[in-house]
Amino acid sequence: MAEYRRTGVLSIDDLSGRIPPRERLQRGPCAVIECVEEIPCNPCEEACPVGAIHVGDPITNPPVLEFERCTGCGACVGVCPGLAIFLLDLSGGRPRVTVPHELLPVPENGEEVELLSREGRVLGRGRVVRTRRAGTTWTVTVELPTEELVWEVRAIRRSP
Ligand code: SF4
Ligand code: SF4
Repeated sequence: MAEYRRTGVLSIDDLSGRIPPRERLQRGPCAVIECVEEIPCNPCEEACPVGAIHVGDPITNPPVLEFERCTGCGACVGVCPGLAIFLLDLSGGRPRVTVPHELLPVPENGEEVELLSREGRVLGRGRVVRTRRAGTTWTVTVELPTEELVWEVRAIRRSP
């Protein structure tokens, strides 16, 4: 049985084959789609300008991402109703993750925020380097203190 069916939270093992390899992320940002259930949904596929996301027919197919085709544009991140798409980037000086963010007020560029895991655990602190509105959802890009956090940070929270 998949681990997330027991815990309610996706693990790296559950996402085997869905996470872009480190070598790809060293060449620039790439999406990761953490959507594994068979649900009738495909706005991510329709939003991708380069056809890197494949749902196909039936619409309940979980999306598959072509890592090499993805340009890291982020268009898919804000359209996912499940908040299940993120951008990972190991190409610059500091590792970066872009997350969908639906809590207001949206953090400011340069602000320090808490970095949260898939289950909402605080993993450390990072700095906001970009915010962008995509439809009704904001996306927030944060710099991380260590590379390992790229595989784990999936939300942010403003400090109290
Ligand atoms: S980041 Fe852009 S290119 Fe990559 S999958 Fe999403 S929409 Fe497509
Ligand atoms: S839009 Fe989000 S929830 Fe819908 S299929 Fe794509 S990744 Fe899954």
